Amino acid sequence: DIVNLMIFLVIALITSQLAVYYRSQQEALKKAQLRSSILLSVSHDLRTPLSSIIGTLSTMQEYGHRLTPAEQQELLTAALDESHRLHRYVENLLQATKLQHGELRLNLSEQSIMQVINAVTERFASPRIQVQFDRPLPQVQVREYLLAQALYNLIDNALKYSPQGSPVLIRVSADSQWLSIQVSDQGPGIPLRTRDKVFELFYSTRQGDAGEGGTGLGLAVAKGIVEAHGGRLEILPVDTGSTFVVRLPVCRGEQR
Ligand code: ADP
Repeated sequence: DIVNLMIFLVIALITSQLAVYYRSQQEALKKAQLRSSILLSVSHDLRTPLSSIIGTLSTMQEYGHRLTPAEQQELLTAALDESHRLHRYVENLLQATKLQHGELRLNLSEQSIMQVINAVTERFASPRIQVQFDRPLPQVQVREYLLAQALYNLIDNALKYSPQGSPVLIRVSADSQWLSIQVSDQGPGIPLRTRDKVFELFYSTRQGDAGEGGTGLGLAVAKGIVEAHGGRLEILPVDTGSTFVVRLPVCRGEQR
């Protein structure tokens, strides 16, 4: 019987080792699949705006001399807009990669949040954006261009996901601990079941191309940047539209 027991033990050992091996193989496969789907998604996101820039510039090169100055200007503006979009995409991708590897360098400095927000909203030049500041506001310790990128992503989404012409409201307030920046729009809002998912890297409900497809980078990067500042990015439960709130820890002792 001791022989039977030994055989049983050996079989049990082999089975458990096989199970471990099988699981590690499955995990490796899943990682490889994830990597290739990310590569596919990134290549697709890069290809569309690049084709459009190449197309526009080729037209300029070939037919530019036959176009009026206004037509030339229009083509150049289109190529430049598309280049800016591509640049923002690559910036988001870069920050996402740094966040994943824990390599985001902050070099914080004390900033007036009003200046940061005004600089971001100026880039949109959209009459839809309304900003309300409570006063006085405390200073915050931020890496300005990173916080600007997070806010840019939130405002860009608010404009993108709500009807043309509807207002996008940015409200800034503070208590003794937190400075809050709310970004509200009058779009369809975010269904309860996707409230956590929307912050995942590469999660996007937006399909389509010609630069209109979603990248699924905006919210993941915004959240990562805000959290790297010791803050939080959340969705507020509101009846209509979406409201995202960025909370940043305030520098003590200063009000401006
Ligand atoms: P993308 O906009 O490229 O899809 P994001 O990470 O910025 O990627 O957003 C992820 C998803 O969250 C979007 O696809 C959309 O479904 C949802 N979302 C983000 N912002 C808003 C908003 N203001 N209103 C409604 N849905 C939003």
